[in-house]
Amino acid sequence: MVEQDKSRGGRCARRQWWAEPTLQLAALVLPCLCAACAASQQEALKTSRGDQMIAEYFRAEIGNLRDSCLADVKSLQDWQQKRQIYRKELFEMLGLDPLPEKTDLKPVITGRVEHNEFTVENIHFQSRPGLYVTGNLYIPKNLEKAAPAILYVCGHSPVKKDQISYGNKTAYQHHGAWFARNGYVCLVIDTLQMGEIEGIHHGTYRYKMWWWNCRGYSPAGVEAWNCIRALDYLQTRSEVDAEKIGVTGRSGGGAYSWWTAALDERIKVAVPVAGITDLQNHVVDGCVEGHCDCMYIVNTYRWDYPLVAALVAPRALLISCRTFSCSRMTPSSGKMVSLSLFEIRSARGATRAATKG
Ligand SMILES: [Zn+2]
Repeated sequence: MVEQDKSRGGRCARRQWWAEPTLQLAALVLPCLCAACAASQQEALKTSRGDQMIAEYFRAEIGNLRDSCLADVKSLQDWQQKRQIYRKELFEMLGLDPLPEKTDLKPVITGRVEHNEFTVENIHFQSRPGLYVTGNLYIPKNLEKAAPAILYVCGHSPVKKDQISYGNKTAYQHHGAWFARNGYVCLVIDTLQMGEIEGIHHGTYRYKMWWWNCRGYSPAGVEAWNCIRALDYLQTRSEVDAEKIGVTGRSGGGAYSWWTAALDERIKVAVPVAGITDLQNHVVDGCVEGHCDCMYIVNTYRWDYPLVAALVAPRALLISCRTFSCSRMTPSSGKMVSLSLFEIRSARGATRAATKG
């Protein structure tokens, strides 16, 4: 679950932003503080009507985006023609177009832990020169052949002790262990914000770095890039069947799971757990106010999120989320999945067999 930063204030913070200039202007031009003046100032500070108008505007805009999402796809042929265009748009909205050069990963194994059922390797690699990604690789004992692999991507669970960050992978180690016990190689990687080498991806969420959006930057793109490079690393390992790789993760990891699955077809199955929803839930329900930059694209092309799910098809996608367990982040209805998969694969005449190719 994404931690809540009470100081950020969501809607309250925006009210102050509107209200402060009004207050400062009033202090300059009104020399007296008589009761009438005070009443007038109180009246000027009322923003409920403006808030309501903005909410109505967003509600209407979200309705437009929801209705236009995938409306241009009338057949499987339409989708096959447009899929790569949409994928290119997603790369761009994540700041990954043009795609960075795939430089030498320079992987290093810094230690091993032996368990009766699996081995855990402590690793790091460089997704770009100098951009270190730290992780743990869980390998089942006594593998007789290359095994299917899972990239597990972490949510917002920092693990720190005595000012040392052990990385959020530490909080999710039970998932790595579970996959290894069940025959999968599992790579669990840290995020920018909460890794062993701590960076920043809480730009607007915590630090009011609104220029990130203005400059087209979202840390979601860096997290997605690190995931793509993690796939590159998994495919270098002899223990891994390179044709059988899946991705899963919770909260922020849920978001990275489906960014990565939508961008990279090496992912054969994706199970984002929480961290994924639609614009209605994000904007109209106010979910966006409590969630982190790493969960959002810079929405240049005015997408709604069923398009992300659509880009995973025809590969398997299971969206997993429990109501109340995801900081209210729950798709407003099953429409997100039905829009992207049902309409493309079934309702518009495309057969399952046709889409498998
Ligand atoms: Zn985040």
